[in-house]
Amino acid sequence: MSKLTTIRRIYSVFFFVLFLVLLFATDFRHLKGYETALFLELSPLTFLATLLSSFTVYKGIILSLLVIIPTVFLGRFFCSWICPMGILNQWVSHIFNKRKNIDHNKINSYRSFFAFKYYLLTFLIVLAAFGSLQTGLFDPISFLTRSFTISMLPALNHSAITMYLKQPIFSGGIIITLIFIAVMFSNRFLTRLWCRALCPLGALLGVISAFSPMRIRRDTKKCTDCRKCLKYCHGACDPHAALRQSECHLCMTCIEECPEGALHYGLKNQQSSDQMPLDVNRRRIVETALATTVLFPMMKSAVNARTLDTASVIRPPGSIPEGDFLRRCIKCGECMRVCPTNVLQPALFEAGLEGLWSPVLINKIGYCEHNCVLCGHVCPTGAIMPLTVEKKIKTKIGTAFYNRGRCLPWAMNIECIVCEEVCPTSPKAIWFQNTELTMRDGSTKILKRPFIDTKHCIGCGICQNKCPVHDSPAVYITSIGEHRSKTNQMILKAN
Ligand code: SF4
Ligand code: SF4
Ligand code: SF4
Repeated sequence: MSKLTTIRRIYSVFFFVLFLVLLFATDFRHLKGYETALFLELSPLTFLATLLSSFTVYKGIILSLLVIIPTVFLGRFFCSWICPMGILNQWVSHIFNKRKNIDHNKINSYRSFFAFKYYLLTFLIVLAAFGSLQTGLFDPISFLTRSFTISMLPALNHSAITMYLKQPIFSGGIIITLIFIAVMFSNRFLTRLWCRALCPLGALLGVISAFSPMRIRRDTKKCTDCRKCLKYCHGACDPHAALRQSECHLCMTCIEECPEGALHYGLKNQQSSDQMPLDVNRRRIVETALATTVLFPMMKSAVNARTLDTASVIRPPGSIPEGDFLRRCIKCGECMRVCPTNVLQPALFEAGLEGLWSPVLINKIGYCEHNCVLCGHVCPTGAIMPLTVEKKIKTKIGTAFYNRGRCLPWAMNIECIVCEEVCPTSPKAIWFQNTELTMRDGSTKILKRPFIDTKHCIGCGICQNKCPVHDSPAVYITSIGEHRSKTNQMILKAN
């Protein structure tokens, strides 16, 4: 085993374990100021896309320069040394792609459809330039964080290791689970298919590393064209011929496998073979960009959540205005992972097509804990800004309403004060009016009937969550009155 391969293996185990440790630490019981969003902040794709979509770079994302600058000189080292998604794909391929009679040389050779990732990258970058941030759907770090948060960790908690106080559930999580399984399963057929053909971060790193001086070099005098170097190649970058630098993951296995010592990693010398330039069809890149430019306004006019103040789109406290929120949220699921009550759920289409898998509060599942400010502290892009507890308890994210046709004191003259008891604001946003009633048998009774004081209601949703009319609670929250919006306000207000 060559020294470089051993070092790479140690690094890949270290970074994958670090990714898991940080994900486990993203929990209200363990969060102690750790940089839990470290891997999300390291992604150059998030850096570029949020810069284009929002013209800002949120503080932590500057860390991605730690990947970008070395990649310019050293090549795409991130993919086989640091990226937890790439490392997981590699391990899954290694374990499950051991079919008999498989021609490793063929399977690890470059194929033209691997260039698809560059067109996907173009599509996502043009969308970001128009202000629609969709890179998180495909960015491997967001993809893996979201998949672990929504499917793997809850499944593990259910079947093996207790990690949560209460089994978390995520509405629509099955779609995220199935996509994750499909990506992992694809490794059964082609090693690291995701990395080779789909990953837009890999494509971006391929572009950044296209001219790096340090790369795998083949000594044409020593090479006997045995093709043994292809056997374990991670990137399918053809080290036996003209190396495709932008596809090379720097796994170093080719150096290890070469019986002639014809390969090394370093600068060009006189014996070095020629190398292939980036395999992209410029015409197709332009066509992709133009098609996105034409499609985008059509998509916008068909589904534009930003102009609608949607009742069910209740965002976490500290969220910036909806348009800016969608320009910054990468749908990573960090906020959903840390939320202690499981109230944060991945949106389907309530926030429009653009808001797919962004966080919304679903109060039937949980409620916003009064003294909790965690989501704003783990969000890597500033879509949810960090708040102090003092500020958070005054931040309105919606307003409660009564459905008097279902509320027990209003509809059935039954005494119930649950919502008032759990309301955490001071003074309480729920108050009672004593009403004298004549009952069916002619007797009279004084009943407390609840009202909402909109000045004090912050829309935390605990009243909805605890309402004894479980199936369709008699008190419910909508986003109206949320502090982050100037338009989503009731025109007439209580004195
Ligand atoms: S191609 Fe993408 S998923 Fe694969 S290792 Fe590189 S960055 Fe990670
Ligand atoms: S502030 Fe509310 S929504 Fe955010 S993590 Fe805490 S309980 Fe969940
Ligand atoms: S709002 Fe939630 S899902 Fe969106 S970027 Fe922030 S932490 Fe990730």
